[in-house]
Amino acid sequence: MNEAVAPIVSASPNGLGEGKQRKPDWIRVKAPLGSAFSETKALMRRLNLATVCEEAACPNIGECWTKKHATVMILGDTCTRACAFCNVKTGMPRAVDPLEPEHVAVAAAELGLEHIVVTSVDRDDLPDGGASQFVKVIEALRRNTPSTTIEILTPDFRNKSQAAVEAIVAARPDVYNHNLETVPRLYPTIRPGARYYASLRLLESVKRQDPTIFTKSGVMVGLGEQRLEVHQVMDDMRSADVDFLTMGQYLQPTPRHASVEEFVTPQAFGAYAAIARAKGFLLVAASPLTRSSYHAGDDFAKMKTAREAKLAIAR
Ligand code: SF4
Repeated sequence: MNEAVAPIVSASPNGLGEGKQRKPDWIRVKAPLGSAFSETKALMRRLNLATVCEEAACPNIGECWTKKHATVMILGDTCTRACAFCNVKTGMPRAVDPLEPEHVAVAAAELGLEHIVVTSVDRDDLPDGGASQFVKVIEALRRNTPSTTIEILTPDFRNKSQAAVEAIVAARPDVYNHNLETVPRLYPTIRPGARYYASLRLLESVKRQDPTIFTKSGVMVGLGEQRLEVHQVMDDMRSADVDFLTMGQYLQPTPRHASVEEFVTPQAFGAYAAIARAKGFLLVAASPLTRSSYHAGDDFAKMKTAREAKLAIAR
């Protein structure tokens, strides 16, 4: 994935199953270096943990795992939804692993993580959507690695979000992330099992219940969204008091997934970032390879600094 190739962008409707798309030369990923990559992989297998880095075929895995930064995906490796952008496998998941919370804490300790990102598949089959497993993971991390800051990236807990969010917020993660993923017009094709305004309300309710928790949300671009629709998503996030916006280029994991409609240039990402900052986000990360958990530890430190600066001005 290190090669630079000429941009050949097929303008196609948002259908699935079209040919493999070639990437422009600004989409460059780093190859894994040294032993850290294989050590991270071996640790995850030993602890029976899935990672979104592998399951979502993340382009940054070479860079992140070389630094031993891995994003753990709890509640198994099988999702009950089938979003058109996502490479995680769909099906009937296995029973929840009761050892998973302790294993996540062991992984954080062995990797020496100052900041951990924990996400999950959608578990519409569970009565609480998997919220109690998030709580157990946060508790295990606080017990075993109390100095590690915790960022969770949750699903939307469809039809059970109120109780789920209340339970998770009470466990006090440092950052609560939930991605809007795309503009509302594209939900029926890209994220058909979810509802845009339900996701927005989830973010809003995290902040309402505990304003000290940082909230974070992300969108992928290149799926056929219009610029003004993206600006509207930013406004919606700000109205829900979201602190941190991430924006990255959608990449088609396999020809069965939604096609890339456009490769957004680094300059256009820069323009989006400038608009987002003007709209009042504490922090904005926008670049072709930005992903929710990319550089999450460094960004958490920046977000804390930005909040302190803002509070100092207000005093
Ligand atoms: S950006 Fe996130 S998902 Fe991708 S490899 Fe890095 S930690 Fe894993």
